[in-house]
Amino acid sequence: MSQRALVIAIDGPSGAGKGTVARTLAARLGYRHVDTGAMYRAVAWKAVEQGLDPADADRLAAIARGARIEMDSTVRIDGHDVTQAIRTPQIDRAAAIVAQHQDVRAVLVALQRQCGEGGAIVMEGRDIGSVVFPAADVKIYLDASPEERARRRAGDAAHTASREPESAAGVAEALAERDNADRTRAASPLTVPADAVYIDTTGLAIEEVVGRVLALVEARAPSVG
Ligand code: C5P
Repeated sequence: MSQRALVIAIDGPSGAGKGTVARTLAARLGYRHVDTGAMYRAVAWKAVEQGLDPADADRLAAIARGARIEMDSTVRIDGHDVTQAIRTPQIDRAAAIVAQHQDVRAVLVALQRQCGEGGAIVMEGRDIGSVVFPAADVKIYLDASPEERARRRAGDAAHTASREPESAAGVAEALAERDNADRTRAASPLTVPADAVYIDTTGLAIEEVVGRVLALVEARAPSVG
């Protein structure tokens, strides 16, 4: 394990492999893993639960401000375990809309910074290296071809467990739509930070990607012995 308690930022579009890579990396390093997308999803879940329009910026900001979000092995919002409920096509769509509201982002970014205090964390999202932790010790941007990302997403067990059926073409189309929204929104759009290491994971095994990131971590903070 590395000596120093680093902050490792992993950004990239859906299906680029962020989740698996971040989780594996955190386990290897004995670091905490924080999936920030789950926070946007939890807020979106609460809005849908209350029958609100995810596009309503004021109402959504109020929800985010008043919500108690807890994340460990489960994701909870105001005491509700939403670990599975946030992995549905409906919440995919709603979360991408909710994430466009600057006031919602301000609340969640503050929470993310609080989670990262003290380091020893692998945080994944869209704006971790650019906005949440611009001074992160290691910044990684994971990408993959649109076809590969749609294929991975269609095989995602957490999503296939939901009861909304999706065709392969439907998955690819929905993914492209959300990516476009993430890249073109005014508030903290998805971009490759200038100082991030870009890794195209198309055709790479998880182990290979994890190995490359571990090498970067090692270079930043050589372990003893
Ligand atoms: O990563 P995941 O697909 O679970 O994220 C759900 C949505 O939350 C994304 O489509 C994106 O719009 C938003 N998001 C974000 N910033 C983050 C993490 C997620 O805008 N740091």
